[in-house]
Amino acid sequence: MKTHNFSAGPAILPRTVLEKGAQAVLDYNGSGLSLIEQSHRGKTFIGIMDEARQLPLDLLGLDDSYTTIYLQGGASMQFLMVAYNFLNTKAAYLDTGVWAAKAIKEAKLFGQVDVVGSSKETKYDHIPTDYIVSDDHDYLHITTNNTIYGTEMHHTPKVNVPLIADMSSDIFSRPIDAAKYDLIYAGAQKNLGPAGATLVILKKSLLDRVTRQVPSMLSYKVHVDKESMFNTPPVFAVYICMETMKWIQDNGGLAGMDQRNAAKADLLYNYLDEDNIYTPLAHKDHRSRMNVTWVLKDSSLDAALIEAAAAEGISGIKGHRDLGGFRASLYNALELESVQVLVDVLKAFNAKHG
Ligand code: PMP
Repeated sequence: MKTHNFSAGPAILPRTVLEKGAQAVLDYNGSGLSLIEQSHRGKTFIGIMDEARQLPLDLLGLDDSYTTIYLQGGASMQFLMVAYNFLNTKAAYLDTGVWAAKAIKEAKLFGQVDVVGSSKETKYDHIPTDYIVSDDHDYLHITTNNTIYGTEMHHTPKVNVPLIADMSSDIFSRPIDAAKYDLIYAGAQKNLGPAGATLVILKKSLLDRVTRQVPSMLSYKVHVDKESMFNTPPVFAVYICMETMKWIQDNGGLAGMDQRNAAKADLLYNYLDEDNIYTPLAHKDHRSRMNVTWVLKDSSLDAALIEAAAAEGISGIKGHRDLGGFRASLYNALELESVQVLVDVLKAFNAKHG
C-alpha cells in the first residue's frame, strides 16, 4: 500500500530527488566516491554549492543585488542571527505563533522589540492586519506561514524599513514579490530538503546596516564573503536542496507549485467546510495552503480517526500538541492523489460517526 506522508517537517520530498540522494550517498556520478566522503573544497561540491546558491534567485526572479547562503543551526539560529546583525536600536515583530514568539524572545536580547501585532489571544487563528511599523524601526520581522496553527500571510507588508521573513514552511510554494523582502530564511526540512541546512536569501545592501561586532559564525557578512564556505557546509543537505529546486523548476517553477498547492488545499478545505463532524481552525482569509488544521467536533473520536487514516496509508496527520486535533501538511512534493485519499477517509468517517 502507498504511504501518504502529511508530516509537518521533516516532510515529504519528491521521490526522484530521494532516489538521486540515495545514489549520491553510495556513488556520486560514477566517481567511485560518496558525495558525503569527499572534500567540500573539491570541484564536485563547489559546483553543487554554486548551483544551490543560484537556484533560489532564479526561482524568485531576483537579480545579483541579492545573494544566498546555507547555514546550520536551523531556522531557530536565524531568530538570533537576524537580531544580532540588524537590531541596532528597535525592531518590529509580528507575533503570529510559537515560532514568531521564539524569534521575539531571542531579539529581546539585542535591543527593543515592538510587537506590533499579535493573535496570541485567539490561539493564533489569524494574522493581524492592522499593525503599524514606524520608519525608525530597524526592520519588520514576519513569519509568512505558521506551521503549527495553519495560518499564512496572503499579503506582503508595505513598510519603509527592511522586511525580514521566516518562510520555513511556505518557501517556494507560490510566486511572491521577492524584491519586497530584504532577508528571507527557511529551514530546509519542509519544501527544500533534509534538516541540517537553512537557506538565507538576502539583499547585499542590508549588510551595510551591521554596526555591532558579530562573532564570525553568526555574521552574515562572513558567510557571504566566504560564499557559504566559511566552515564545512552540510554537504548532503545542500545537495538535496539543489535537486529539489531543480525539481521545482522542472515542474513549472513557482507558478507550477502554486497550481499544485491550490488544487490540494481547495480539495481539503472545501470538504472541511461542508456540514460534517469537522471544524477547520484558521480564519478563512488567513488559511495556510501548506498546513491545514482542524478538530473533530467530538474529540473523543480523535484516536479512531488516526487509526482509520493509518489503515489507508495516511501518516502524519496528528495535530501539534499545542492545538490538538489534526494537521495535514500539503508541501510541494505531496501529490493531489494523497489529499484525495485523505478526503475519502474523512468522508467515510463522517458517514459512520456523523
Ligand atoms: N519557523 C517555522 C515557521 C517553523 O515551522 C519551524 C520548525 N518547524 C522553525 C521556525 C524552527 O525551525 P528549526 O527547527 O529548523 O530551528
